Amino acid sequence: MGEPPNSNDADPVSRTLRIDFHVHSRLGSADSGTTPEQLVDAAIRCGLDGVVVAEHYRVWAEGEAERFSTASFTVFPGAEVTTDLGHVIVVGMKEYPRHRRLEDLAIEARDAGAILVLAHPFRGLFDVGLPEAGNTIHPRLRRIIEAGQVHAIEVENNGCTDSENHAARSLAALAAHVPVAGSDAHVPAGIGRSWTSIPASAATPDSRWLAGAVRGLYERTPWHRGSR
Ligand SMILES: [Zn+2]
Ligand SMILES: [Zn+2]
Repeated sequence: MGEPPNSNDADPVSRTLRIDFHVHSRLGSADSGTTPEQLVDAAIRCGLDGVVVAEHYRVWAEGEAERFSTASFTVFPGAEVTTDLGHVIVVGMKEYPRHRRLEDLAIEARDAGAILVLAHPFRGLFDVGLPEAGNTIHPRLRRIIEAGQVHAIEVENNGCTDSENHAARSLAALAAHVPVAGSDAHVPAGIGRSWTSIPASAATPDSRWLAGAVRGLYERTPWHRGSR
């Protein structure tokens, strides 16, 4: 597969990893025909250091992820869960989460050492003919965000409109949450259209490492609003 063109192979602690935080494959998403080989080939071609496979119904096994990872490219198994408050990406769980109520999923993820990313939180909200509808956050979701039960917000998703992504950026900035970007590609050609830069470390990157890295970024943001 060769070296990615943008590989920066200097000191691992000072470099960043370019990660498309939201891709699908046929291994875990019925609406994607992308094979693992196509996924990895497309991702490496566009210079990514890794992808989060945020699958709709199963989490890649560790062995599957290792098989398609290389010394300079990592597959991070994840899940995109349809909760009662929208789609949420989970990173750091070995099994597909059991809960669909977001408060319960947050506890399940926390106990597993995983992190939650609100995926495309405004998708479709501007389509109802009420411009102000896009600015509303469900009161429960607001409490969950303020309590720090999700750590990151997807601010760039190539399946969203500019207005939807803009609203997500505003929310991430207001809530002091980690902004992440992903393509939401269901076909190989879409992979790598958006990515997130995550500081590398000396540790070998895997899903637990990525969850810890995002949690660390969240905790280092200068302020958070308390839940009371
Ligand atoms: Zn989604
Ligand atoms: Zn998706």
